Amino acid sequence: MTFDVAAIREQFPILSREVDGKPLVYLDNAATTQKPQCVIDALVDYYSTCNSNVHRGAHRLADEATQRYEGARDIVAGFINADCREEVVWTSGTTEAINVVAHGLAQLLKADDEVLVTEMEHHANLVTWQQACKQAGATLKVAPICDNGELRVDEFEKLLSDNTKLVAFPHVSNSLGTINPVKQLVQLAKKVGAWVLVDGAQGIAHGAVDVRDLGCDFYAFSGHKVFGPTGIGVLWGRKSLLEEWPVWQTGGEMISEVTYQDARWNELPYRLEAGTPHIAGAIGLGEAIRWFSELDFDGMKAHETALMESATRQAEAFEGLTIIGNSPEKTGVLSFVMDAGHPADIGFLLDRQGIAIRTGHHCAEPLMNRLGVPGTARASFSIYNTLEEVDALFAALKKVQMMLA
Ligand code: PMP
Repeated sequence: MTFDVAAIREQFPILSREVDGKPLVYLDNAATTQKPQCVIDALVDYYSTCNSNVHRGAHRLADEATQRYEGARDIVAGFINADCREEVVWTSGTTEAINVVAHGLAQLLKADDEVLVTEMEHHANLVTWQQACKQAGATLKVAPICDNGELRVDEFEKLLSDNTKLVAFPHVSNSLGTINPVKQLVQLAKKVGAWVLVDGAQGIAHGAVDVRDLGCDFYAFSGHKVFGPTGIGVLWGRKSLLEEWPVWQTGGEMISEVTYQDARWNELPYRLEAGTPHIAGAIGLGEAIRWFSELDFDGMKAHETALMESATRQAEAFEGLTIIGNSPEKTGVLSFVMDAGHPADIGFLLDRQGIAIRTGHHCAEPLMNRLGVPGTARASFSIYNTLEEVDALFAALKKVQMMLA
């Protein structure tokens, strides 16, 4: 079966819009992905037909809303191969998912404990652990990368010790596209008995994720990076850990019994989901994952590889352009700088040609400092991008180069 990009594009209404009379070329997928019509319809249908609060209502709408909402949890649990649905905790996104874990960890850490991250972290997977360590008087260690953006696995291993309580790293780097050897890193961390959190923000939309096979303890991702709505995400965690994890927010839903003086916590996943959740978001994410999981993943991988190869080939041949991040294992992201001008100018001039990329430090300021660049221009690809769009990017970059000369 071939991967029918045209048929996929037709399902995304936004892809047929224009920007200043030019067809939109959307290459900012690492920031957020676009939404297929079925996801938009799921949101509209929920609000149009069964909008209600979940779990607590004694009426038809509440039942229907609860069924759709909890059904979405089942879809996610199945997609990531969770052991059970209780392991899927709704959060507002990757950031909140990591915060849930870090907030609890801060209470579990002791002064000589260590947390290990990498030099390629997004701020969401760095500042959280910094703060948890500060609170507990523990130490944050940072595993180095090579100049090409690949993790130094040998150094990572050396930094592990019996004091390492938790290791956190991205599945895929948002700034460089580096794919980390998750299973290998998990195995190394497990030798010293550390918990492992994988920041899956950029990993989730590039194929099947099997949390049991990866062997990690926590996997965090955002709905909006996998064709779902913003404001909803997932913390997957091992049931045995989440059952004991210090609670995050307190309030309604997360309790089982309350007196004026005290409270007992609800069971999983509700103990980590205080307050009225983003019901529509969860339903939309369930639909997004259902839609995504029905794609031909082999065809999708081949298509994404072809996009990356074409982009890399054209970037390498482009005089005055330097690729930032050349890891042999890479997906979805082409980060670069140009002699002609600052990344912000490149982004501005591409936008004038209908091409959407992102520029700046990509929420990875220490990484940019490590690589000696103020920021990069980043084109990031998704399944609906075409080889013609990659060509359009480079034709537009030629014009940018001339405009800035
Ligand atoms: N980690 C990585 C690697 C990311 O790319 C992002 C989003 N750019 C995040 C974490 C944070 O995701 P969100 O803003 O959706 O919480």
